[in-house]
Amino acid sequence: MITYLLKLGELTLKGGNRRVFERILRRNLEALIRGTGARVETASGRFYLHSPEGTESRAEDALDHLMGISGWAQTRVCEKTVPAVIRSCVEEGKRLLEGGIQTFKIEARRTDKSFPLDSYGIAREGGEAVLGAVPGLRVDVRRPQGIIEVEIREKAYVYGFGRRGQQGLPVGSAGRGLLLLSGGIDSPVAGYLLASRGMLIEAVYFHAYPYTSEEARLKVVKLAEIVGRYSLGIRLHTLNFTPIQKHIKAGAPLEWHTVLLRMAMMDAAEKLAENRRCACLITGESLSQVASQTIENIACTESRVKLPVLRPLVGMDKEKIIRIAGTIGTYKTSILPYEDCCLLFSPPHPIIRGNREEARRLYQGLNLEESLAEALRGGHTEECSFPPGKERPERDEPPRNGTQAEAVVI
Ligand code: ATP
Ligand code: MG
Repeated sequence: MITYLLKLGELTLKGGNRRVFERILRRNLEALIRGTGARVETASGRFYLHSPEGTESRAEDALDHLMGISGWAQTRVCEKTVPAVIRSCVEEGKRLLEGGIQTFKIEARRTDKSFPLDSYGIAREGGEAVLGAVPGLRVDVRRPQGIIEVEIREKAYVYGFGRRGQQGLPVGSAGRGLLLLSGGIDSPVAGYLLASRGMLIEAVYFHAYPYTSEEARLKVVKLAEIVGRYSLGIRLHTLNFTPIQKHIKAGAPLEWHTVLLRMAMMDAAEKLAENRRCACLITGESLSQVASQTIENIACTESRVKLPVLRPLVGMDKEKIIRIAGTIGTYKTSILPYEDCCLLFSPPHPIIRGNREEARRLYQGLNLEESLAEALRGGHTEECSFPPGKERPERDEPPRNGTQAEAVVI
């Protein structure tokens, strides 16, 4: 068996509720490793994953996508004796060197005070043993490239390659939200961010077949699969909005088309959310990123809905959003050049500061109720999850020990 040690993130700050969050975390991890023969163990507020040899890539993939942990590491588990711990430090030192690391330090923690060495003693003796046995490694206590961590608890744990976890809170601890998912860069990131706050995500995509292609729809399915890896899958609803776009085109001034289309999307999304018992709508809007996202136009867009509209990207600039899209693996798919339904109908000079009353009046004049009901009736629903074994989406690797100037402390 290979053992991984998990460090819990923000949920350790929870008081009486902590157990509830831990239960959800455990259930989520078990779902991600199902079928591998791996087992989750909890001991004194710590999580361990015991994974059969040969299933490391599944286990590590699960840990890489699990919301609610601040870090994880494959760890050696050894007897609580000084020689065993020192030996493990040396073994871990060899692994660090093999991994391209030249400078290290040892950090030790001891919850079992009966262990004969204190933390300082472990670091000193372990460090000396590593220096003696692994030529090529040097100690650097201020900016080491690698850290060998030693924890003396129920057993002794020694590990060198810590990875940062997804952090946040376990998915399923914060209700369910309906994400308006387009094929762009922003909305997948918005869904990911709220999953990282513990929200279960459903998604709705409005397409404009035949004006938008099947490729455009498949791209959204792929995005839902990628974000779904972090959120335990995503149920995706696809609604045909072509008739609604046509109504807008025929019945409203050109400069208002985009804002009115957004209002219709919110309207339909709210009805779907009520049906699916989602507590909020989620969009990828970012303040003033495009004309339809000025504060005045955002106010128009949401003026008909009562559910809270969460916009996790509202204060982020595009570069930051792109960076997150790169690390979660959605960016390369988002930039595939398939047309968006909004672009097809977008006016050359859209209204920049729409007036809410006017928006409401124009919208009501369109009498979209029947078409919206029709779109909802004709919707198509599918489960998007990323089955293990499928090729991993390309993503920018998070920094890990040995590939950066400083070690990751998990
Ligand atoms: P994105 O990159 O998410 O497409 P964007 O910067 O292109 O965002 P807009 O096209 O103005 O912005 O869309 C704003 C938000 O409205 C999107 O983030 C998304 O939540 C929602 N949205 C836009 N088009 C669609 C669509 N076809 N289906 C579902 N939601 C959509
Ligand atoms: Mg878009």
